[in-house]
Order: sequence, then C-alpha cells, then structure tokens
Amino acid sequence: MQDISFWDSCLRSFEKSLPPQQYNSWIKPLLLKSENGSLILTAPNSFTLKLVQERFLPEIARQANLAFSRAPSFEFRVLDITPASKPVETRPPGTSAKTVVPADNKPKIETSFRGYGKLNPNLAFDNFVIGKANQLAFAAATQVAELPGVSYNPLFIYGGVGLGKTHLLQAIGNQIRLNNPQAKICYMHAERYVADVVRAYQTNKFEEFKQFYHSLDILLIDDIQFFAGKAKTQEEFFYAFNTLVDSHKQVILTSDTFPKEIAGLESRLVSRFGWGLTVAIEPPELEMRVAILLKKASLGGYTLDDTVAFFVAKHVNSNIRELEGALKRVEAYAKFHKRIISVETAKEALKDILVAQSRQISVENIQKTVAEYYRLKISDLLSKKRTRNLTRPRQLAMTLARELTTMSLPEIGNSFGGKDHSTVIHACKTIADLRASNTTMDADYKILLQTLKG
Ligand code: ADP
Ligand code: MG
Repeated sequence: MQDISFWDSCLRSFEKSLPPQQYNSWIKPLLLKSENGSLILTAPNSFTLKLVQERFLPEIARQANLAFSRAPSFEFRVLDITPASKPVETRPPGTSAKTVVPADNKPKIETSFRGYGKLNPNLAFDNFVIGKANQLAFAAATQVAELPGVSYNPLFIYGGVGLGKTHLLQAIGNQIRLNNPQAKICYMHAERYVADVVRAYQTNKFEEFKQFYHSLDILLIDDIQFFAGKAKTQEEFFYAFNTLVDSHKQVILTSDTFPKEIAGLESRLVSRFGWGLTVAIEPPELEMRVAILLKKASLGGYTLDDTVAFFVAKHVNSNIRELEGALKRVEAYAKFHKRIISVETAKEALKDILVAQSRQISVENIQKTVAEYYRLKISDLLSKKRTRNLTRPRQLAMTLARELTTMSLPEIGNSFGGKDHSTVIHACKTIADLRASNTTMDADYKILLQTLKG
C-alpha cells in the first residue's frame, strides 16, 4: 500500500472516531511521508508531536501494521525547528541581498515611515509572569533578546487572544533596546505594515519604504495573520524578511495561529517562517492565573489575599487580558463602595461574569465529556466503585470541575455522587502529581480542557 493512501485512510478513520475538535487540533495538522522504508510523521510543533506520540501513535501504528506487508518504523519530526543550515536563497548571480540605496544626487527625503513603531516600556520581561503555559515562549524570547539575529530567526510566537503575545514581543524589543540603545528597532501591528504598503503604493514611494524596512536591526510585527490575502503586502514583506534575515537582523512575529493555519498566507512565507523557531503560548492554568493576579496587585501597590486571587482566577479562565480586567473591576468596585477587597466584594463586582459563566460549563457537561472521552458510563463515573479505570477519570473530572465551574469543593463532591470535599482535594492533588510525572495524564487533561472550553 502506498504511504499516501495509507495516511488518507488513517486520517479518515480518525475523523470518524474522534470529536471534530480533537481531530482538527491534533491529527489534521500532521504530515506523513515515507523515506528509506520509514514513515516520517511531522507535527507542527513539539507540543503536538508529544501529544500525538502519547495518545494516537498506537492507533496509527496499528493501522500501519494492517496496511503494509512489513510493519514500518516511525520517525518523528517537528516542523517548526529547522536545522541551523537554512535553505539557500536563489538569487541571480552578481546581485546582492542589500537594499539599493538611492543615488546621492536625489534630494534626501526624511522618510515618513519612521514616525511609529514605538515600544511600550511597560511591557517588559520582569513583569511577565512565567508558568507552564508560556515558559517555552519566554525562554525563546529571552534568548533572542540576548542574542538577536543569532539564535532563532525568525522567532514566531503564536497563541490565542489575550495570552501575552504582544507583551512578550514588546518585552523582547525593550530588552534589546536596553542592551543596545543604538539598535534600530521597529515594533508594529501587522495592520500598520499593510497600511504602509498601501501608502507606498499610492504615493509611489517604494524605494523609501524599502530603505526604511530593510535597514532595521530588529523588526517586530504583531498579529501577522492580518497579512492573509494581501498579496502585495506579502510580497514586500517577503523581500524585507529575506534582506533582514540574510544580514542576521532579527525578525520576530506573532500570530493567533500556527503559520500553516493562516489561510491566505503564501506558502513561501509559511516556509520562511519555519526557518527559525515557532513557539506557542497556551492558556494559563489556575495556579498561573493566581500568580498573575498576585503580581498585578503588587505592581498596583496593594496585596491581594490568596483566597480572593483564587476566586477571581477560578472564575475568569479565558485569558490574561480578561483576568486583568476582572481584577481592575474588583479594585474599582471596592474603592467606590469603600470596602476591602474580599471574596464577597469580588463576587459582587463580577456578578455578570459569574452568571454568564455558570451557564457555560456545567459539572454535568464535564462529567459527560469525561465519560465519553474514556468511554465510560456517567453512572459509573458517579458511583462509589473504586477500580483504577474509574477513579482516575473521576478524579480528572473533579479537577476539571474545580478549574472550570463556579462550584465550591463540597458542591463538587456532592455532584459526584455525594462525595465529600476532602475527596475532591485529594483528587486535584493526585491529578496534579500524575500530570507532572505521567505525560498521558497531562495530555488527557489538556485535551479535555480544550474540548470543554470549545
Ligand atoms: P495578546 O497579544 O496575546 O492578545 P497581550 O500581550 O496583549 O495578549 O496580553 C494581554 C494582557 O495581559 C496585557 O495587559 C499583558 O500585559 C497581560 N499579560 C499577558 N501575559 C502575561 C503574563 N505572563 N504576565 C503578566 N501579564 C501578562
Ligand atoms: Mg496582541
């Protein structure tokens, strides 16, 4: 059987057996080809690869054993980390990558592309809270800031809204500026770059445009997904990118999705983005959200009680921007009513969020999703039976209920067939320990969390 048709049928069977979200997140982005008798499975990033190896490889291998006369061996690759030797750019002989500087007899125009691209000094590394969700991105960002143009070029940071991409991007710029005040750094939102291309077009000032962009030391472009479908922008950016990277100038980009997933982005750009390192920022977990709140409060000059931080973090689990917004609301509410910041004030200040959220994810929904995931009956999940195949999913469901619902520990215990709150505490601890030592459990947790959050 051909590897291509094997992979096609493998994809089809996963598409049938998995919920669409899981299929789209983990299976669809995989690439398979055969090389010297091995099957090479390429994942878009190391996170996906790890997860696929843990959860889906046995099934892929099973299907491969059925499809091929001899069981093939597997090799794994990650698309986003390419070796230091990047493909050589083909350019006509005798031409150079350098920008053509206009002849000196032309009157020098003070370039109009210069006036923006300012960094916000408040977005720095030292007020960026690090947790499991962003530690990889943070490590890459600090490395690039210390050795721009040397380590990863480009650095591509992607993740959902409000998770800290802009903060990290600007922090890199600020750190480079601190280390090297002479560096020519330009930070801008992708829309701004698009507008510049349009303006250069209209006013016939491409030379000036190029002169500016191609002479930067550091180019930071935020939300590159806005380039989608804009051919001229992509063409200009392609030249700027090549010029900068060729001369070891650092390019750092952010996007809301992985490059390959940006519909309407030219494949040559997608492939260029893979020259460096692509890292994801994931949604923060409960403990990290708490740490962020405590940090924000201390930056604001007050201390926040742990119980209040937990309360807010538990109820605002979408992203960091909303977490910050919620804290500001609690703060303003307490000030206005001349009250101290307590769980009670937080409850009142965030009443509408709490109501909206309690409608969203119910404990029943969690139980149903977990039961389906492990192919168990809900009644077994809620029963007092204590076989391992039931206790682990039950404990995981309790942990998810603690993360995602507004319920108290006794309420959670109660909704799991009348267990008490110490059982829930024990469950959360067990799952946390297991996640740290056992990657399958960690993967299960993440998949379920994503599935529930939709
Ligand atoms: P994105 O660009 O991914 O949409 P932002 O970088 O604008 O998100 O982050 C949203 C808000 O959350 C900003 O105010 C930012 O300072 C804050 N923030 C994000 N991540 C962190 C973090 N790890 N530590 C502290 N604050 C953060
Ligand atoms: Mg942003």
